[in-house]
Amino acid sequence: MRFVDAHIHLSDQEYNGKVETIIEEAQKSNVIALVSNSVNYESSMLSLQLAEQNPGLVYAALGIHPWNIQFLSSNELEQTLDLIFKQGRCREKFVAIGEIGLDFSYGKKQIADLQIKVFNEMLQAAEKRSLPVIVHCRRTASEIMSILPSFDVEKVLFHWFSGPVELLSKIVEKGYYVSEGPPSVYSNGAKEIIKSVPLNTLLTETDGPVRFGGPFYGKMTTPSFIPQVVKAIAEIKGIKETDVAGQILQNFNDFFSVNLF
Ligand SMILES: [Zn+2]
Repeated sequence: MRFVDAHIHLSDQEYNGKVETIIEEAQKSNVIALVSNSVNYESSMLSLQLAEQNPGLVYAALGIHPWNIQFLSSNELEQTLDLIFKQGRCREKFVAIGEIGLDFSYGKKQIADLQIKVFNEMLQAAEKRSLPVIVHCRRTASEIMSILPSFDVEKVLFHWFSGPVELLSKIVEKGYYVSEGPPSVYSNGAKEIIKSVPLNTLLTETDGPVRFGGPFYGKMTTPSFIPQVVKAIAEIKGIKETDVAGQILQNFNDFFSVNLF
């Protein structure tokens, strides 16, 4: 079986000096592709560099995370958009815009307005470049669903979607994707979500270096957790593990327009 991590932050400080080990561990665990998500201009540059250094294994997603909005330097949004436009769409390394989105539990009202502005700019870039987007949707999934129809962006990945479950039918109806990670192994909430997402729009992720509970408690998060996530999905859905792994690999190819075999 081969596995994929559609959402990890290899450029995060916590992984400083450890990226090589993480990549080695991923390969040992048969995780054959990682999407290095970015949170600002600097990490977007780093994600691109990692993708260049690890062709066919690390892919870059470029963008500005909603948590970073209040720390942006004066021209950082323009710089990041410039970087996105300059890269064009090189599927060998640059496959999506992310991590972008909204999180209103973070910051004040004016920060929320700024988050919406940046999110809109990123969606516009995705539309112009026909790129998929990876969205952070913590408690903002309904706002995000109301903004998306203004843009011609077909491929949307709701990363670590955690509810409300009622919104899932709309997400599924639109053909949007959902990625789930280590909580699938131990959290009833995550299991509920997985039950309602069709297997052909489901992806696996770690969101590393975010740390997890259950059997992952106290451990540094690495893509080597993914096989356990796939095993959990197989149990929840009552489908053979090999079939789940194969379908998720196919989903990765479809979503990011790459060719993993
Ligand atoms: Zn993330």
